[in-house]
Amino acid sequence: MTDFNATRRAFHLPAGITYLDGNSLGPMPIGAEQRVAQMMVGEWSEMLITGWNRAGWYHQPRKVGDRVARLIGAGPGQVVMGDTLSIKVFQAVSAARVMRPDRRVILSDSGNFPSDLYVAQGLARAVGAELRVVAPEEVEANITDDLAVLMITEVDYRTGRRHDMKALTRKAHEHGVLTVWDLAHSAGAVDVDLLGADADFAVGCTYKYLNGGPGSPAFIWTNPRLADEAEPILQGWMGHAAPFAFDLEYHPAKGIERMRVGTPPVIAMTGLDAALDVWDGVDMADLRARSIELTEAFIHGVEATSPDLILNTPRDPAQRGSQVSFRHPQGYAIMQALIAEGVIGDFRAPDVLRFGFAPLYNDRDDVSQAVEVLGEILRKSSWDRPEFHQKSAVT
Ligand SMILES: *Cc1c(COP(=O)(O)O)cnc(C)c1O
Repeated sequence: MTDFNATRRAFHLPAGITYLDGNSLGPMPIGAEQRVAQMMVGEWSEMLITGWNRAGWYHQPRKVGDRVARLIGAGPGQVVMGDTLSIKVFQAVSAARVMRPDRRVILSDSGNFPSDLYVAQGLARAVGAELRVVAPEEVEANITDDLAVLMITEVDYRTGRRHDMKALTRKAHEHGVLTVWDLAHSAGAVDVDLLGADADFAVGCTYKYLNGGPGSPAFIWTNPRLADEAEPILQGWMGHAAPFAFDLEYHPAKGIERMRVGTPPVIAMTGLDAALDVWDGVDMADLRARSIELTEAFIHGVEATSPDLILNTPRDPAQRGSQVSFRHPQGYAIMQALIAEGVIGDFRAPDVLRFGFAPLYNDRDDVSQAVEVLGEILRKSSWDRPEFHQKSAVT
C-alpha cells in the first residue's frame, strides 16, 4: 500500500493554504531545493564543462525519462525528456504525419488545449495537411480512413473528461491511423497504460502532477515498434546518432534518443529528478483509487452546499481524470475570493472554476476545507467586491 501521509510530508505546503491547483503547477518537493543547490554548487561551479560527462548531464534526459516511463505504462529506454510540451506535440504529430504520406488529415477535438491545436495548425499549413476539430464526444465516430493522425489529450484541461485511450487507439489502428496522446493532465494523475493500449506516440509536461517545478522539461514516448522508424522532423544535433562527430548530414540516433533536440535544461531537470523521488513508493492503482475518493467527496460536498454551481465534469469516475470543475457566471470573482481565503484553484474562461486533486499531497481535510469555504463565499456573496473582478495576466 502506498503511504500517502509520507508522500504529503515530502512537499513544502505553505501554512494556511489548501492547494488544489497542482494540475497547473505542482508544489515544491522539499528534496528539490537541496538537490538543485547541490547541482549548482557541487557540479556546475566545480566541474564546469566536464559536468556533461562527470555528473552525467548528457544522459540525464534518458535517465529521467526512465523514471517517468514507469508512471505512464511505458518501459525503460522508451521516454526522453527535453523542451516544452508544445515542442514535443510538434515532434510527435509531425513524425506521425510523415509516416502516413498519402493521408492529409489530423483529427483532434475542441476540448484539446489550445497550444496543441495551434501547433497542429502551423504544422498543417507548412506541410499542406488539414486539422479537423470535432467535439470530444464525436471523436470516435470521426475516425475514418482519410486520417493520418489522431491527436488527443487524454484528460480535458477544462472539464476533466477522460478519453478511452485503449478504445480510440484500437479504432484508429483499424483505420490505419497513428495516435498521439497528450498526457499533460494524465501523467501522475491517473493510471496510464501506453503499452497496454498500444498507443503510437505520447507526450506530456512535468510541472503539473509530476511536480517538476515551473518550466521543467517535457517528455516524449514512441512505441518501441516505431521508435527506429519515426522521423524526427525537428532535427537537432542532440538527436543525431553521433552528435560529437559534427557531421554535416543528419542521421537520427537509434530509438527514442532521436527525439532529443538541443542542449537539455540540466538545472530544471535536476529539480524534476528530485521530484520523481517522491513517486518511488507509489503504486499507480492506489493513486487512482485515492484520486477517485477525493474527487467523489468534493463533488458530493460542493453539490450539497453550493447548489448554484453546475458540475462541469463527468459524474462517472471512470470518465474523468483527477480534476473537478464547476461553472458559474461569476466564476472568475468567486475563484479570486477563494484564493483570498487560502483555497487555491484556478479559473478557465469563460466561466469555469477548476480544482485539481493530487493524491500525493491532497487529503480529505483539503476537500472539506475547500467545500466549506466555497459554500460560505457563495452564501454570503462575498465574491462581489471590486478587487475580485480585476483580471491578472495569468488566471
Ligand atoms: C499544460 C498543457 C500544455 C502546455 O504546453 P507548454 O508547452 O508546456 O507550455 C500543452 N498542452 C496541454 C494539453 C496542456 O495541458
